[in-house]
Parts: sequence; structure tokens; C-alpha cells
Amino acid sequence: MTDPIENVAATRLPGTVPADESVEPSQKSGQRLHECWTKRAIDLARAGMHAGLGRPFGAVVVKDGELVAEASNEVYKQNDPTAHAEMVAVRRAVTALGRRNLSDCDIYVNGMPCPMCYSAIYWTGMRRIYSASTAEQLAEITGIDDAELYADLARPPQARMKPPIEQVPGVLQDAIACYEEWGHRGHTRGS
Ligand SMILES: [Zn+2]
Repeated sequence: MTDPIENVAATRLPGTVPADESVEPSQKSGQRLHECWTKRAIDLARAGMHAGLGRPFGAVVVKDGELVAEASNEVYKQNDPTAHAEMVAVRRAVTALGRRNLSDCDIYVNGMPCPMCYSAIYWTGMRRIYSASTAEQLAEITGIDDAELYADLARPPQARMKPPIEQVPGVLQDAIACYEEWGHRGHTRGS
């Protein structure tokens, strides 16, 4: 069976520094493994920043100690504001595994996911998010602060600041007919 920590190093990014190869066998604990994968996310963040792909964020999806998918933030590269590292990594992971449910996977990131990425991870059913830093630490150093958006989402829909949400009158029956055509039984997350 492949050594999980050696596997992290073996799948290192081109042109990046390996996470840490000076790991003694006795140190190869679960925590050490999490550290290696998280360092890999930091390497992706740095590599993407240097390549001009986007802001310095990286994400790595792991299943059973094996790399499934990884990404840097590609907002600049794709000219797509949704191309955060986690979003790109999730898309690559479902493609790699050929399924939408990633409940046997974990994701490693260098910074706490924004609400969009958190939601994407939620919809995949991934087990756990491992982050190198807290949202507060990220905000303090970079000024990137998702707290306002998280706070807005915590309010009732009618009370949210941006964008406001309105229900359009006169089309509810059409919407209901569409839902009913699909049916509402037996569908689970990701279906
Ligand atoms: Zn995000």
C-alpha cells in the first residue's frame, strides 16, 4: 500500500517545493498527514498567485489518503468570479470520480471557504474541511473578509442587504407544476 505522506510528495506540483520530505516514520501521524495536504493547498495558492491565475488560494480533495483533485484559484485565468480554488477542485473531483457525491472525501484549503465554496462543498457531502487559517486570520492579513456575507446569509431572505430577493408574482403555479412534474419523493442531496 502506498505510504500516504510519500504519496503527497510524489504528486507534488511542478515547480513547487515539496511539502516536507524530512518526515520520520514515527512522525507520520494523522495530524502530520493533514499538515502535508494543507501545505499542498498552500503550495497551490502560491503557484497560482505567481502564475497570475488568481488570488492566493488552493484546494486539495483527498480520498483514502489519495489525491483526487486539486486547484488554485482561477478567477483571473477563467475571468470567472466563481472559479475559486474550492469550486474548481470540486468540479475536477466529481469529474475524476465520475459521481456527484463526495461523502468519502475531505478537502484541504489554505483559507476558510467563502459561503459559495462552503455551499458547493456542502452539496457534495464531503466529510470535513481542513483549513490552514481561520477566517479572522485571513481577514486580518489580506483584508479579504467573508464575515459580512456570512452575516447577511444568517438573516431572513427578506432582510438581506445584497442582492435583495423578491418573489415574482403571477408565476407560482407554473413553478409548482414544474416541481410536481419532477416529483419530490426519493430524491436525495446530489440527485
Ligand atoms: Zn470561495
